[in-house]
Amino acid sequence: MTTTAAPAPATAPFRFFDVHVVRSRRLSPSMVRITFGGERLAELASGGRDQRFKLFLPQPHQDRPVFDDTGDGWYPAWRAQDPAERAVMRSYTIREQRPEPGEFDVDFALHGAESAAAAGGPASRWAVRARPGDRLTVLAPVVEDNGGVDFRPPAGTDWILITGDETALPAIAGILSWLSPGTRAKVWIEVAHEDDRQQLPTFADADITWIVRDAAAAAHHEPVLDALRAAELPEGTPYAWIAGEAGTVKAVRRHLVSHGGIDRRAVKFTGYWRRGATAVYYKHHRAHKNGYYIVCRLVIES
Ligand SMILES: Cc1cc2nc3c(=O)[nH]c(=O)nc-3n(C[C@H](O)[C@H](O)[C@H](O)COP(=O)(O)OP(=O)(O)OC[C@H]3O[C@@H](n4cnc5c(N)ncnc54)[C@H](O)[C@@H]3O)c2cc1C
Repeated sequence: MTTTAAPAPATAPFRFFDVHVVRSRRLSPSMVRITFGGERLAELASGGRDQRFKLFLPQPHQDRPVFDDTGDGWYPAWRAQDPAERAVMRSYTIREQRPEPGEFDVDFALHGAESAAAAGGPASRWAVRARPGDRLTVLAPVVEDNGGVDFRPPAGTDWILITGDETALPAIAGILSWLSPGTRAKVWIEVAHEDDRQQLPTFADADITWIVRDAAAAAHHEPVLDALRAAELPEGTPYAWIAGEAGTVKAVRRHLVSHGGIDRRAVKFTGYWRRGATAVYYKHHRAHKNGYYIVCRLVIES
């Protein structure tokens, strides 16, 4: 038995929410969990799994993010603003939502920000310093079945293949907790430290392999790819979900399609960050009149 999901809906209402930090907890050497609260958060509706959303952070000299417009025209208005003043936009995953008392958690990978004030990017630096009461804005779904959920195995799937790094760990945790009992899953997760490994509760029949990265070799070595090359994959029709560093994602996808015999349509792949490049590369932008829906992601040429 496996779990399948309907295709993504054509429209996906998203809305801006003003939120504040309720608490922050260091989970491991490279990960901090921040819990957000806000007056209207009962209206937020996460679809679970790899539910993505947009985070808008204040600049270091501001105490809240600056927007000229949070209506239908927010995206061109945001782009037209002075980059030194406008809110910093990043994509993250809703790790867990609790409608009562109106909270949600986000797990931030720190990628260097924990050891030096100038290291990491703006989001990672913000996360390491976040304190209760700090304010920001999010663009998040108000309908559970929304286009910000990508993990959608089609009918006929026999087993699930997942690979990712620590930025994808919140999504992998959400996916594993969503899979129905007995679903066969093979999972490879690359992390920076032994202690970054987490308990990942699931009813699935999941075989999880943790790979601790060798920091010195990280830029020119893809241990997930090595692990996949050495792996014996189950019989039957797989659905693959791949996320993490864009170059690694591209290499893993190519391997699965060219050498693993996996149908390219059954591979969902997303670059969550790109080595040496800040933020995201905005390739697609769609805004729907009834709510807001934006697709901004790294584009990986295949
Ligand atoms: C759909 C989606 C969901 C995501 N969910 C999560 C999530 O739940 N948790 C999470 O931690 N991240 C998540 N990410 C990844 C996150 O958006 C990026 O890591 C982002 O670049 C962090 O922003 P920043 O401001 O800290 O760094 P940036 O300003 O974007 O980058 C600064 C520098 O840091 C490098 N860098 C960025 N990320 C990493 C990294 N992880 N390791 C090493 N170097 C890095 C860049 O290459 C660049 O050189 C998600 C991304 C997408 C597209």
